[in-house]
Amino acid sequence: MQPANMASLVENLRRVRENLAAAAAKSGRRPEEIELVAVSKTHPPEALREALEAGQTLFGESRVQEAKAKQPFLPNRARWHFIGHLQSNKVRAALPLFELFHGIDSLAIAREVQRIAQSVGVFSSVLLEVNVAGEGTKFGFKPEELRAQIEDLLALDRLQIGGLMAMAPFHPDPEHARPFFARLRALRDRLQQEAGVGLPQLSMGMSGDYGVAVEEGATLVRVGSAIFGARSGKAWRPERAEMGLDD
Ligand SMILES: *Cc1c(COP(=O)(O)O)cnc(C)c1O
Repeated sequence: MQPANMASLVENLRRVRENLAAAAAKSGRRPEEIELVAVSKTHPPEALREALEAGQTLFGESRVQEAKAKQPFLPNRARWHFIGHLQSNKVRAALPLFELFHGIDSLAIAREVQRIAQSVGVFSSVLLEVNVAGEGTKFGFKPEELRAQIEDLLALDRLQIGGLMAMAPFHPDPEHARPFFARLRALRDRLQQEAGVGLPQLSMGMSGDYGVAVEEGATLVRVGSAIFGARSGKAWRPERAEMGLDD
């Protein structure tokens, strides 16, 4: 499937930014408090470059190999967040590619990030994914589990835990997502109090519900299809020609 045509991509980006500013204003927040992660998974580097030229420097990818293949086609000023479920056998490859990992969803994967980060001498910025919907989503800490494990997580000194991340269950009405976002913020407030730690970041809101997420306190919104158009479902892979193998 072709990427959304370029004129509409720039237009989409402009509209998303306008909507973010409007949602911020509505809830008495400054637009600078909210960072837009343009979720570029499955889309080719040309689409990302177009977004970059329109001022969008931060991209979200959910597969390590796909991001690794794509990054060389973008200039260095592009910044990358990992928004997917991180598998333990991908941690070593992923660490140098991303400045923030949104989807740290278990103590086991957090410990693996700690182990690898320690072994290569780096620190890793992460968000803890919470399963705020119960049955609806597969990944993430259950709220009570996170409260029980927060001290163990905070003890991992190679992890810089900036806050929490969640996905609301899919629903055509964005208002349906509001209680889930409110729940994430309340859990964050409670963890801050109980553990005496700052967790300023809330990564919540996607194409269908980012406005509501901002009203409920999101500091990072992960918006894909509203910017890049529909996804094919398949990871992007470089063509032989693009890799210089046809010479
Ligand atoms: C794909 C994805 C998004 C973006 O979804 P859209 O509905 O296209 O905006 C956001 N967050 C996560 C975790 C994703 O996997």
